[in-house]
Amino acid sequence: MSALPRPPTPPRLAGSRVVVVGASKSGVAMARFLVSRQASVVLTDLKPLENLGAEVGTLGRAGARLELGGHDVTSFTSADLVAVSPGVPLTIEPIAEARRRSVRVVAEVELASWFLQGILIGITGTNGKSTTTALTAHLLAQAGLRATACGNIGLPLTDLIPKDAPDHYYVVELSSFQLEGIDTFRPWIAALLNLSPDHQDRYPDPVPYYQAKARIFRNQGRADHAILNRDDEEVWGLAKTLKAHVHPFSRATTVEDGACLRDDRIVVRRDGRDIRAISLASIPLFGAHNVENVMTALLVTDLCGVPLPRAERALAGFRGLPHRLEKVLHVGGVTWYNDSKATNVSATIKSLESFPGRVVLILGGKDKGGDFPRLIPLIRERVAHLVLMGKARDVIAAQLGTIVPTTKVVSMSEAVEAARQVAEEGSVVLLAPACASFDQYTGFEERGEDFRRLVLRLLPRS
Ligand code: ADP
Repeated sequence: MSALPRPPTPPRLAGSRVVVVGASKSGVAMARFLVSRQASVVLTDLKPLENLGAEVGTLGRAGARLELGGHDVTSFTSADLVAVSPGVPLTIEPIAEARRRSVRVVAEVELASWFLQGILIGITGTNGKSTTTALTAHLLAQAGLRATACGNIGLPLTDLIPKDAPDHYYVVELSSFQLEGIDTFRPWIAALLNLSPDHQDRYPDPVPYYQAKARIFRNQGRADHAILNRDDEEVWGLAKTLKAHVHPFSRATTVEDGACLRDDRIVVRRDGRDIRAISLASIPLFGAHNVENVMTALLVTDLCGVPLPRAERALAGFRGLPHRLEKVLHVGGVTWYNDSKATNVSATIKSLESFPGRVVLILGGKDKGGDFPRLIPLIRERVAHLVLMGKARDVIAAQLGTIVPTTKVVSMSEAVEAARQVAEEGSVVLLAPACASFDQYTGFEERGEDFRRLVLRLLPRS
């Protein structure tokens, strides 16, 4: 186990002026914590009070100063610290100005980590973060350890400070945006699942995006562990630059100290010896990419001292997260899958690779600048019919050309209806949109729920 040096004594909060940027879940958590530590807090958001949660008003009454409906740059430049919610880009002008004036700017995970004694496990990558975070926490908790999935998965790390203990494992999902704002944050174990272009609207060039992801390793030392995808060139290229002990995982090649495949098993190997083989058939998650997520989770649990047979038993009980290749219905010989979380081209590729063929694929939504032609070989091989929906439908149609029969629609109900009409016995209908959902929905969850609701209506009524 780790005996980790902690960051230097946390800054004194009482009496210091802190601006919290962004007033949704993480911002509210930070403001609440900072007020409880007697900091002088400004909570600011572009949205007005009426568009924010009720807790924001409560915080106003509890002593935080609210600056809503816009930011006041003088609050930023006169602060001792600016603490930023994960959804807020560090590039916005008031933050950039605060930085120019040497005000310290940090992400929520950085702030929270100053006040935690527990063990930090960081998970990042372009795709698979939430699944791997949830699975890892599940395996650790089932083995009797205190473990919590947190970070971008929906639970701010700050909310865990009151329940902190030195033996608490925090499995933290980290986005590139959060990682841009770390400073001393040092996970004992850090995993990088994969790297491919995403968020091209915010990172037109993938290099700064990859560099942000790689920051997960920057504070690690020799006592720490890095789990890396050996099959991903961008990820594996980092291995030689790291101080931490590197544990590769691979579906393509054998590794000496990590996880790989042999026949139909995952083998975990230490110093060139197999220590455990786990049958792929026992993995309850669908799709080849989930093998990578399971390998990562098993390597983490092994490092945490959990006996692998125990982890294997717990794996069987993991149900997966909704909206990630979730099987919704099998009716009339057609199976419907909801992968609303496939919000970029790479995730859609993984999704399609999970099916041998006869797929009716629903793509579309709000385009993030995706490189849709990367889908063409797989579409040719596995897709019988394309349904293009939402705002991006024409952009996608123009990029893909007419490689398979294609129907263009606007709404999800039209998409489901179009798919129903063309699906035949033995077909799979797959919602894996390769786009964000914000043209018609508040997020991928709402889009997936709408799809599920519409598909379940296809059930014959008795
Ligand atoms: P994230 O939190 O990184 O967005 P999720 O676990 O929510 O990751 O999965 C997002 C999407 O990526 C899903 O559509 C899923 O099918 C796909 N996916 C999951 N794991 C992987 C992986 N290891 N490699 C590539 N794609 C993946």
